[in-house]
Amino acid sequence: MHCIVFFGIQGSGKGTQAELLSEFLDFQHINIGDLFRDQVARETDLGKQVHEIMCRGELVPDELVFEIIYSSLRQDLKGIVFDGFPRTLKQAEHLMQNYKVVQVFFLELSEEEAIARISARRVCSGCGANYNLNSSKPLRDNVCDDCGAELKIRDDDRPEAIAKRVKEFYAKTLALKDFFAAHNLLCLIDGGGSIEAVATRIRNKVTGLF
Ligand code: AMP
Repeated sequence: MHCIVFFGIQGSGKGTQAELLSEFLDFQHINIGDLFRDQVARETDLGKQVHEIMCRGELVPDELVFEIIYSSLRQDLKGIVFDGFPRTLKQAEHLMQNYKVVQVFFLELSEEEAIARISARRVCSGCGANYNLNSSKPLRDNVCDDCGAELKIRDDDRPEAIAKRVKEFYAKTLALKDFFAAHNLLCLIDGGGSIEAVATRIRNKVTGLF
């Protein structure tokens, strides 16, 4: 199974860019954070196991990550765009053993800019739609354009949890840059500028890969 991987500091735009690229390539987009949030919202056994961990901004154990990926794979897929996976060396090794990794995009953005972006993030309490008060504002303050419900800050976007998530990124995920560079898979992308500007940089890199 062909796959493309996005990683980068929280707020670097990997979710948005992974979504756009998966539409462009007609690949399945697997956003691990969203999959876990869905389990939490539905109060499943898995959701109950991961809820506290996520609220604290810590990483979920690797085995639970593998489990949720397997259970979400579509049968008809052409390929996968992974977003938020891998985040540990063990996950990266699992990825290399089980998938044909074509390219790994690392979105580069300063910590200050990433935190500023996260602080502007809002999610709809009704339908889960994502907004950003800087780049994709709702039409009416604090109200979802799609369903009219109130917008809120994600539990793990609160300052204490952000600080913990950024710490986890430096402690466990940043080392994957060297891992993927050693496999000749790493492609650094400037994550600054508009969503479309970053998307164009990425599309230019995938042209010719498939
Ligand atoms: P995200 O929306 O990508 O920032 O992910 C939200 C939360 O989900 C993270 O803070 C972790 O608790 C959990 N999570 C997402 N992806 C992973 C992963 N690959 N490994 C472990 N935990 C993850």
